[in-house]
Amino acid sequence: LGPTICAGEILVEIMATSVGEGFSAPVEMIGPYPSGAPAIFIDQCARVGGSAAMIGAVGRDDFGRVTLDRLAADGVDISAVAVDPDHPTGTAFVRYRPDGDRDFVYNITRSAAARFGWTDAVEALAARAGHLHVMGSALVMAGAAEVIEAAARLVKARGGTLSLDPNLRKELAYGADTERRFAEIVAMTDLLLPSGDELQRASGVEGRDAALARLFAMGVREVALKQGRAGATVHRPDLPPVHAEAFAVDEIDPTGAGDCFGGAYVTCRRLGLSVEDALTYANAAGARNVTMRGPMEGAGTRADLDRFIAATPRRAP
Ligand code: ADP
Repeated sequence: LGPTICAGEILVEIMATSVGEGFSAPVEMIGPYPSGAPAIFIDQCARVGGSAAMIGAVGRDDFGRVTLDRLAADGVDISAVAVDPDHPTGTAFVRYRPDGDRDFVYNITRSAAARFGWTDAVEALAARAGHLHVMGSALVMAGAAEVIEAAARLVKARGGTLSLDPNLRKELAYGADTERRFAEIVAMTDLLLPSGDELQRASGVEGRDAALARLFAMGVREVALKQGRAGATVHRPDLPPVHAEAFAVDEIDPTGAGDCFGGAYVTCRRLGLSVEDALTYANAAGARNVTMRGPMEGAGTRADLDRFIAATPRRAP
């Protein structure tokens, strides 16, 4: 029914090579690494063998060029990514603290990433898309949110499907508008990919079973609950849950695990794989990505993931 599309922030990440607190003294940094949750997601979709296209904007600068070159090389259709001559590519400077928490300096809202809108190229893409994946992080930006809402209506009207990763991180400032848009998207969601307390956030209901019941009553058909080192569980109405333990790996850089999990899960399901097989690939995609420095450096192809699955033990439950 057409490609999987995702709209939102395309960034580069530049990261401190040492663990520590913030940037109040000079530290050695490494980058630029292509990043942005929607970009990581769509890159993983293409790498695992899905037809995938990105909607967003980068600046007319080297950061934009390396990121678009990378997406295109990995097989993502970038025909609906605008190159903005007046605003720079978005950046995220990151440093990990010893406890695994992160300090960020973001330039997103003043960057090209926050300034894309509905264009002929977006219209052409949305009109032939079969699936829209929404990142909660993108709904924070008014322009992106309008594009996502319009694309969601188009895709659903022609019988396409919608997945949502709530991903409303505490670093992102959001208000009543974002909450309203978020609720509208939840109401259109077929497949939800929450982690942490996002199941409660998306359903508005406390407690796992009550939250799931509420979401299924709203029309959600599948919930893939990401649980980090504890793996992931898929819940569907009237069927027993399917759980898979995570793979045992050394975590080098956790950024992007959930996005790679989502890209692999959505694509495998769209390609007709069973919940069990899609979950195996998705757990592998998330785990493989945390073994490499850089948000999307570990996004594996189907062959990479097959090798990873064959060579990597599961964590004990
Ligand atoms: P998010 O990044 O959205 O919060 P998670 O942290 O739950 O999502 O990661 C998504 C998936 O990636 C997990 O369900 C798991 O399969 C895999 N994953 C994440 N971190 C690890 C880890 N340290 N070891 C093994 N697998 C991991």
